[in-house]
Amino acid sequence: MKPKFDRNRLIVSLVSAIVLLIFMFIVIKNRQNATASFNETAFVMGTVFQVNLSSQGKTEDPSAELVNIGNRLERDTLSWRLDSSEVAAINASAGDPQGHELSPEMEAVLTECLRISAESDGAFDITLGALTKLWDIDGWANGDNKGDFVPPAKSEIDEALSNCGYEKLQIKDHRIYMPEGMSVDLGAVGKGIYLDSCRDYLSSGDELRGVILAGGSVLTAGEKENGDDWNVGITDPFSDGELIGYIQVGPWQSVSTSGSYERFVEYEGERYHHILDPATGYPAKKGNASVTIVAKSGLLSDALSTACFMLDSDAAVSLAKRMGAGICIITDDGLVKGDIELIHQK
Ligand code: AMP
Ligand code: MG
Repeated sequence: MKPKFDRNRLIVSLVSAIVLLIFMFIVIKNRQNATASFNETAFVMGTVFQVNLSSQGKTEDPSAELVNIGNRLERDTLSWRLDSSEVAAINASAGDPQGHELSPEMEAVLTECLRISAESDGAFDITLGALTKLWDIDGWANGDNKGDFVPPAKSEIDEALSNCGYEKLQIKDHRIYMPEGMSVDLGAVGKGIYLDSCRDYLSSGDELRGVILAGGSVLTAGEKENGDDWNVGITDPFSDGELIGYIQVGPWQSVSTSGSYERFVEYEGERYHHILDPATGYPAKKGNASVTIVAKSGLLSDALSTACFMLDSDAAVSLAKRMGAGICIITDDGLVKGDIELIHQK
């Protein structure tokens, strides 16, 4: 007997198949559009490194590679403490008439640093290694010697200063020449260089947006979903661990802050901080509590935040302007200066 053709059943099956297909399509589409969040905190290059990124449909978390980039940068290039780094090799060559061959990356970094030294009349100086070691700034950061800190004697400071001075450092034919006793300290630009590497890694791949923090420096990665500027919090220099407000920053900008509150020790009621004036050898006292710089280049923003901290506020504003960067200064008196608006949130 010929099976009876059930028209209704066929229609039900077809409709079910179509509904199923539509359902699968919606699920797949939603998966593609789902926002993935990547949040990571790590200790990199002697500081807190924080990733807060999101992406549409991207599943691969970039955090681990970003941490690796920082660790590699410290180990192979920037650290003056690790023998494996290029800076350590450069410092070991001080006094060698043959000098030391530079990698193209290091040559570019040092050349840019020397330009900023010249532009800031030596307020920013990467050859202060002898002085920063004498003050044992890294020791305070680790808390090693905070308890029994005694400021160095004037004679020791003068001796250390005799081994400093960017004008005595020469770069010629891709080689660096330094006098004996001189030592390079890239502590003022390390985080900015790191953020530049993070930007190169992130901007070449899938679309990610968010912020990355490395110590006192921030990278705004990509554009905010609604096209607004990013709000970047500014630490209150007068109140431990609190924000004083925020500034508004566009995509792919580096924001660096240098402040006397970041690293300091106290001795007989006096505070000694980590930004040293190459003119005196003592912590800078120019009336600034913190200086924030915004620039496309992390190296520039980091170098300038240190350099401008060393200058009085008018000179700092004009240096930032000359170098094409934005600036926001909070003075010791609590005044706000510069062309970037600080939006108070208290
Ligand atoms: P930052 O916190 O970016 O302002 O960098 C401060 C660090 O840079 C210090 O811990 C020192 O290692 C180094 N430093 C201190 N004073 C100077 C200076 N005048 N120029 C360049 N580097 C400096
Ligand atoms: Mg800096």
